[in-house]
Amino acid sequence: MITGLKELGALGMKIDTQYGGLGLTQVYYNKALALVGSVSPAIGALLSAHQSIGVPQPLKTFGTREQKETFLPRCARTDISAFLLTEPDVGSDPARLATTAVPEGDTYVLDGVKLWTTNGVVADLLVVMARVPKSEGHRGGITAFVVEAASEGVTVEHRNAFMGLRGLENGVTRFHRVRVPAAHRIGAEGQGLKIALTTLNTGRLSLPAMCVGSGKWCLKIAREWSAAREQWGRPVALHEAVGSKIAFIAATTFALEAVVDLSSQMADEDRNDIRIEAALAKLYGSEMAWLMADELVQIRGGRGFETADSLRARGERAVPAEQMLRDLRINRIFEGSTEIMHLLIAREAVDAHLSVAGDLIDPEKSLGDKARAGAGAGVFYAKWLPRLVAGPGQLPARTASSGTASTSPRTCATSNAPHASSPAPPSTPCPAGRGKWRPSRASWAGSSTSAPNCSR
Ligand SMILES: Cc1cc2nc3c(=O)[nH]c(=O)nc-3n(C[C@H](O)[C@H](O)[C@H](O)COP(=O)(O)OP(=O)(O)OC[C@H]3O[C@@H](n4cnc5c(N)ncnc54)[C@H](O)[C@@H]3O)c2cc1C
Repeated sequence: MITGLKELGALGMKIDTQYGGLGLTQVYYNKALALVGSVSPAIGALLSAHQSIGVPQPLKTFGTREQKETFLPRCARTDISAFLLTEPDVGSDPARLATTAVPEGDTYVLDGVKLWTTNGVVADLLVVMARVPKSEGHRGGITAFVVEAASEGVTVEHRNAFMGLRGLENGVTRFHRVRVPAAHRIGAEGQGLKIALTTLNTGRLSLPAMCVGSGKWCLKIAREWSAAREQWGRPVALHEAVGSKIAFIAATTFALEAVVDLSSQMADEDRNDIRIEAALAKLYGSEMAWLMADELVQIRGGRGFETADSLRARGERAVPAEQMLRDLRINRIFEGSTEIMHLLIAREAVDAHLSVAGDLIDPEKSLGDKARAGAGAGVFYAKWLPRLVAGPGQLPARTASSGTASTSPRTCATSNAPHASSPAPPSTPCPAGRGKWRPSRASWAGSSTSAPNCSR
């Protein structure tokens, strides 16, 4: 199957045609993933880990021309890649990661262990996040590298087995004195978490896209089965409780597809900060897909709980409803757990206000700091509050010309941002006066739990 996918060009859906890829937009890439997700979430995860967060995505934004020319043609057709951030002691909060990359001449020497490496068991190329110690000539910090999986000192120690996604080639990888050329460093030393976050901004959209495929599959099976299965003298679909479950699956899938399409279009425009939209899509998709699959199991009754193999063995149609439920469960945990998505979205919503007035509620701050914060906040809110009522964001033409909805979840945007009438109008500079909002820490998991900041 993998050979067939390679021949189809499925490994290079997101890679530019100049490097041998198919050059799909985010919208069409996500539609392709949705199709795959409706057949096999494990294959969907392989394709998505490879090109949404694996080598192609960080190289697209942060790679040098030489790196793109060296690695992208391989990723487009033959090589599978993986993204290695998580470690045994480091999950949602990767800023403490322990894998090291010590500079030695024109190489770095990597040591450490990475856990839950999707594709890591079969990958040819790895993106590895490791900590460079600070030393003379090296500013140090968490740094991203492209590592050849066949390098001396790289060992896959274990293939993990899970409740679902049993086809996932996910394992534990150890690095023991692995030499990586400095030319394979992505971006600068210390940029690793920023690279991980930026990679995830669009990478995170793959997951709700695949949930759309799962929702459509659930709907198809629910409709077919509930029309065919009769109890109490009529198809179960005509019993109201079952009909309302089908309506829930249909409406939710429709809504989720709209969310994914809109967010993907915004990603394609390449000028938007879609962190919050991607997080909302991921949160909504993963939670809803799980509920939809659970309702499908319920509609199928006892057959929903029975495995496809068992159904087939006794002569019935082999519908893997229980497998779909198991496969979808992980979506609430990886690529930023539900709890971390709540934190990220909530923090984004109050980001501007924390920057302006956060010291007022910080128990660690002195009275002097609080007084200064109070004075600064007074100046900020004296301008900000009136503009909520009468600012440019309230002008219909402003919204129309931006082409975006007038109810963006963001609270602070700069004039180049598309959200015309978010609570802070677009012309409102962010309080620190420096461009788009960025979190101060990033993670494959999407965590960003330290104090917010505002930087480019
Ligand atoms: C099948 C699978 C595939 C994966 N693939 C990859 C991969 O390809 N690359 C990679 O780097 N990693 C991968 N991961 C790791 C995945 O991203 C982590 O499992 C995830 O980040 C959560 O980390 P953790 O499991 O260590 O949970 P923890 O961080 O230990 O969290 C445990 C619980 O506490 C909650 N929690 C944590 N912090 C907070 C907080 N501040 N507030 C509220 N709740 C909190 C979490 O939501 C969770 O419910 C994969 C994991 C699995 C299981």
